[in-house]
Amino acid sequence: MSHLFENYSRAPVTFVSGKGCELFDAQGQAYLDFIGGIAVCALGHADPAIAQAVSRQAQSLVHVSNLFRSEVSEKLAGELCRRSGFDRAFFCNSGTEANEAAIKLARKFAFRSGSKRHVVVSCSGGFHGRTLGALAATPNEAYHEGFGPLPGGFAVTPFNDVRALDAALGPDVAAFIVEPVQGESGVHVADAAFLQAARKLCTERGILLIFDEIQCGMGRIGPTFAFEHFGVRPDIVTLAKALANGLPIGAVLTTEAIAAAFKPGDHGSTFGGSPVPCAAALAHLQQRDALGLHSQTDTMSSYFLNALRELAQEFPELFGEPRGLGLLIGLPVNEAVKASEIVDALRSDAMMLVNAAGGNTLRFAPPLIVEIAHVDKLVQALRAFAQSRVKESVAAAGQ
Ligand code: PLP
Repeated sequence: MSHLFENYSRAPVTFVSGKGCELFDAQGQAYLDFIGGIAVCALGHADPAIAQAVSRQAQSLVHVSNLFRSEVSEKLAGELCRRSGFDRAFFCNSGTEANEAAIKLARKFAFRSGSKRHVVVSCSGGFHGRTLGALAATPNEAYHEGFGPLPGGFAVTPFNDVRALDAALGPDVAAFIVEPVQGESGVHVADAAFLQAARKLCTERGILLIFDEIQCGMGRIGPTFAFEHFGVRPDIVTLAKALANGLPIGAVLTTEAIAAAFKPGDHGSTFGGSPVPCAAALAHLQQRDALGLHSQTDTMSSYFLNALRELAQEFPELFGEPRGLGLLIGLPVNEAVKASEIVDALRSDAMMLVNAAGGNTLRFAPPLIVEIAHVDKLVQALRAFAQSRVKESVAAAGQ
């Protein structure tokens, strides 16, 4: 009997180790990983540079708290700011905490500016986390049920609708939070025009623009930061997931002026900026450069999307048009089949790990080191599933 809570629907498989794009169970059976710990393991599993950085750091210093300065968190903050063009970083331990910090920062910034703005607007289909503030910004009734009352001061606007956004950004709004690519909703890419309009409206009205890059940032869609792809600079960026390639960390990046809204005591975290995850994040950034992951991701993305497009054309009764950017890709599955059924079939028959996201969509977020041969194998397994489905339905029609 397991003593863990049953709040997750875990697949009936236990992994004991991993290497690159593969995971191994206790019997040594290999599985090809197209989930990457839900867009986390950008460098794959057991990356030697991450292992070495973690081991070195753990042997010298694991924790001191934020009562003291920490060399490695200062270094990571500097590196993230140098790469993003922001001035300041706040570290925490997860994505939801990064968004909590961003929401609190936006409200405090308004407060210190003498403004009464406090409302945080988010988008339909958005996902920002499970703690109460981030949950209030996540307009999904299923996630809210039984947890009320949620904190007030949140509003929702339709994703990619400029006119509705214009109406939603009223005089009481402190911040607009948006994922440049929505992951949990089934991979929906923001229109560049929507993000540009958001930038313009926020600037004109004194509203902070927050990009939640927790899933789509850290190279997932190509460049280190998703905002680089869209050419729109937000006021605040939140990061987590892939930042330390699997060690728990979250981050908020922003400007000097906005960061100054937090005075000592305003916000904090015991573990935030802890040396081991920070050392892993620094190693991850170095490896990104060393492996040329930006261009590698662009190349693999085109190959992957083309292969899925061909598959969807071959089996239009099963699959819709694939969508996504970089290596965050969604393949809509037509009503006749549940995406979760394909997830189970691929895992048990083809030893491949994929994931179902919102809107009956298969979501692929493999390690960014994924190879053409891996993509070919996956598409072949999807084709085999589709062929057996088509055969079954022909047989059923003939009866
Ligand atoms: N924001 C986005 C866009 C996410 O995809 C997630 C997690 O899936 C979160 C926030 C929450 O991150 P965490 O699970 O680390 O709290």
